[in-house]
Amino acid sequence: MNTFEAELQSRLAEIRAAGLWRGLHRVDSAQGPVIECQGRTLTNFSSNDYLGLANHPALKVAAIQAVEQLGAGAGASRLICGSLAPFHELEEALAAFKGTEAALTFSTGYATAVGTITALMGKDGIIILDKLVHASIVDAAKLSGAKLRVFAHNDLNDLEDILKWSAKTRSEKSQVLVVTESIFSMDGDAAPLRGIVALKEQHNAWLMVDEAHATGLYGAQRRGLAEQLGVSDRIEIQMGTLGKALGASGGYICGSRALIDFLINRARSFIFSTAPVPAAAGAATAALKLVQSDEGQQRTEQLWSRATELNSALRIPHSAIPSAIRPIMLGDASAAVAVAGRLREQGIFVPAIRYPTVARGAARLRITVTAEHTPDQIQALTRALQPLLHHSSPSPHGPASACST
Ligand SMILES: *Cc1c(COP(=O)(O)O)cnc(C)c1O
Repeated sequence: MNTFEAELQSRLAEIRAAGLWRGLHRVDSAQGPVIECQGRTLTNFSSNDYLGLANHPALKVAAIQAVEQLGAGAGASRLICGSLAPFHELEEALAAFKGTEAALTFSTGYATAVGTITALMGKDGIIILDKLVHASIVDAAKLSGAKLRVFAHNDLNDLEDILKWSAKTRSEKSQVLVVTESIFSMDGDAAPLRGIVALKEQHNAWLMVDEAHATGLYGAQRRGLAEQLGVSDRIEIQMGTLGKALGASGGYICGSRALIDFLINRARSFIFSTAPVPAAAGAATAALKLVQSDEGQQRTEQLWSRATELNSALRIPHSAIPSAIRPIMLGDASAAVAVAGRLREQGIFVPAIRYPTVARGAARLRITVTAEHTPDQIQALTRALQPLLHHSSPSPHGPASACST
């Protein structure tokens, strides 16, 4: 074996030994509450397709129409070969949906975070992140060259201390950017956005909020958690994704016209990347229409009913802000994989989430419910889960004990 292969084999062996091995499971059906995976039918509690739109006829028709009118591929980046109409329609719909002056879409949420943060911030700046923000934000912050500070998860006192420190440290031209998610991707809890907005205003910082897991779900018009908490207008940079509740693919920034013009000129992941396929834009535009309709309202209500049923069965206390994401903390990576494996044997797909997606020692099952699950499917999940949790080792991180009733 040459040294390249030998080196990789040794690294892979380390990954396996740590219980952190990941492999791809081929799926031969569309996203939905039931999937066909490697010859088996599984009830699916792993998807971020919270409203069940990924396989919705309205999105499929819109995607097909976009392909028929504009083809399968985009040809080049939007600044090079012209910017296809479906992206303009999508961005107008997004700005109207979010109530902002303008919007810009990117090929993925990951590219959105990387392009936006590195465009706005440089080595003179200070970026302050919640401890649990998504990897795309962490990577973007590192790549920007700005000074990084991390505040304890959802801890306003810690954020305030860091903002005070940054006020003393910053030079005249240095900007301070605070970044948080609204609903956290792996914990399902909500950021105290009102408190964060108040603090960033007191300390003259900018705020970017990633609504990846909230867009389409929260607020009277389902714009996201910022709408529900009445702070949308006070957030400079509103980010979200199109591939979760909206069932399509891509990421977006909503904000002022100046912000969007600046990103078009400076966001490298936008400039130096081929535009997404027209089908993605068509599907996302249809999804925005759908979430704002009566059907969108009904689907959201169904989602919260399923989430409530899951929580009651697991005896998890009611929280003021509901969530479709329910982590079951197990701590140890191998324990999480073992419990996920036992569920799979019973025809239930719940992913084990491990390092580096979450911190070492914070491995968990991540259950996600969707509007399309039935109450029976939730019951089957909790029936299968109870004995498994009872026998797994208790974790210092909480909910497992609440579940192993
Ligand atoms: C999924 C996710 C992203 C990345 O979005 P993609 O479109 O999947 O690249 C960014 N931020 C958060 C919080 C996410 O959960």
